[in-house]
Amino acid sequence: MKKRIGIIGAGLAGLTAAISLAERDFDVTVFYNGKINESNSTKIQAGIAFPILEGDSITLHVMDTLKTGHFMNNIEAVWNIISKSSEAYDFLDKLGVKFESVELEGGHSRPRVFSIKGETGKYVMKTLKNKVSELGVELLNSEVREVIVNGNECLGVIDLNGFEYLFDSVVIASGGYTGLYRYTAGFRGNLGILIGDYIRKGGVATDLELIQFHPPAYVAPDGDVILISEAVRGRGALITDSKGNRFVNELAPRDVVSRAVYRKLLRGERVYLDARNIEKIDNLFPGIYDKLFEKGIDMKRDLIPIVPVAHYSIGGIFVDIYWRTPTRRLYAIGEAADSGFHGANRLPSNSSLECIVGGLEVSRTIVRDIEKLGRVNKRSSIRPKERQALNRDNIDKLRDIMWSYVGVERDSNGLRTAEKLIKKMEILPQIKSLALAISKCALERRESRGVHYRRDYPNIDERFKAQSIYHKGICKIKGSKGYET
Ligand SMILES: Cc1cc2nc3c(=O)[nH]c(=O)nc-3n(C[C@H](O)[C@H](O)[C@H](O)COP(=O)(O)OP(=O)(O)OC[C@H]3O[C@@H](n4cnc5c(N)ncnc54)[C@H](O)[C@@H]3O)c2cc1C
Repeated sequence: MKKRIGIIGAGLAGLTAAISLAERDFDVTVFYNGKINESNSTKIQAGIAFPILEGDSITLHVMDTLKTGHFMNNIEAVWNIISKSSEAYDFLDKLGVKFESVELEGGHSRPRVFSIKGETGKYVMKTLKNKVSELGVELLNSEVREVIVNGNECLGVIDLNGFEYLFDSVVIASGGYTGLYRYTAGFRGNLGILIGDYIRKGGVATDLELIQFHPPAYVAPDGDVILISEAVRGRGALITDSKGNRFVNELAPRDVVSRAVYRKLLRGERVYLDARNIEKIDNLFPGIYDKLFEKGIDMKRDLIPIVPVAHYSIGGIFVDIYWRTPTRRLYAIGEAADSGFHGANRLPSNSSLECIVGGLEVSRTIVRDIEKLGRVNKRSSIRPKERQALNRDNIDKLRDIMWSYVGVERDSNGLRTAEKLIKKMEILPQIKSLALAISKCALERRESRGVHYRRDYPNIDERFKAQSIYHKGICKIKGSKGYET
């Protein structure tokens, strides 16, 4: 009988792993939550960073990644992932993905972002989904609530209806936790349930406080959020207040622009993106243009009201460079995992590269580990457990708390208020644990670095130049002398 692998998540990371494992003759089941084409991966705009063109190099890409990450990255992970970029490119090429252009994005010293019509994710994910179906991978639309951990070994997962699924190995590829914020252009079902579950079971998570905010997005009256890519500012779009005055360098790093916009909004002002000066904008950015047009905004004629949105979770389940968690038979990849690749800030288009490299590498790791560990000792029954309701109203309340106190700017008073409010909430325990862990780590990092900004500690403090480590209810910043508050 084939060995069974369960993958939680049908994004770029999960489907890459599924293809690679199915081709190695494993019996693969992929869980997803909602619709198969609803993931952050489908929303990838600019593209995927591959330093493979003439004149570029792995070293240049590594240096760009470290610089953007404020040199807090795990250097081994950075070299490891970027060195595997030509393998990642070949994987997509063999599946038939045809990139149409190569773009230069902020922070990259060379044009290396491979793109398809500014809607790269839509095309890449369609190809992966076709391949997964062709290989006979089982796709299950069911929200997974727990990993089954016995001692230091993972035996399977439990879904929202309480059903147990037993596997020889489990890969968490369920994306990040930007769905915990009031505003995000990402998939709102990315609530970090399995990250929360894992830390409740004594697992380790790192860098949870590091959440990247993206400066311009439009929130439509129906609640839809449309991200307006960096490339639009790169072509000359301006950010202005209601009097038409510019107040920030539009091409400054994302965290700097996000804070400038956020501060205006806090004062009750409105902020706009003005892209009216860009010729043929409908041809240059057809995806963004059409989405805004559907909502009644014509980029050629109208100013676009904007807010910053929660965009990327740098933190996640702690993994080694082979994507193993500290628990046997349990792996994590993509935005759900944290290998230390991004440091304190993420270089644009590096996350999609990390998803593909992680998906390919984890399958090799599983082959080796299963050979050593053998099959999991299975019980035969699948028994329903108690179903845990997810209180949707409370999710929205939590999103407001996270936005106001654990968002673009933080301070000690706000973070303590968040902790008190979250503790009192009736909400899925996995989500509560994760939200508390994020606030705790944000409180612990008493400095401002990369995506993390503390009003009460606005400068970098070299004592904190390390990953935060969350384990058993405590967040420590390794290397910091004064981590206790
Ligand atoms: C608007 C937007 C544009 C972006 N543009 C770029 C870009 O140009 N380049 C780039 O590199 N990055 C970009 N990113 C970031 C990138 O999209 C993500 O980092 C990446 O797609 C993450 O992929 P993933 O496979 O880890 O997770 P996701 O793509 O988020 O997929 C998560 C999967 O897990 C499933 N899931 C979640 N929770 C559960 C659960 N409890 N049970 C079962 N299933 C679950 C979901 O249904 C989904 O299938 C962008 C992000 C956004 C939001």
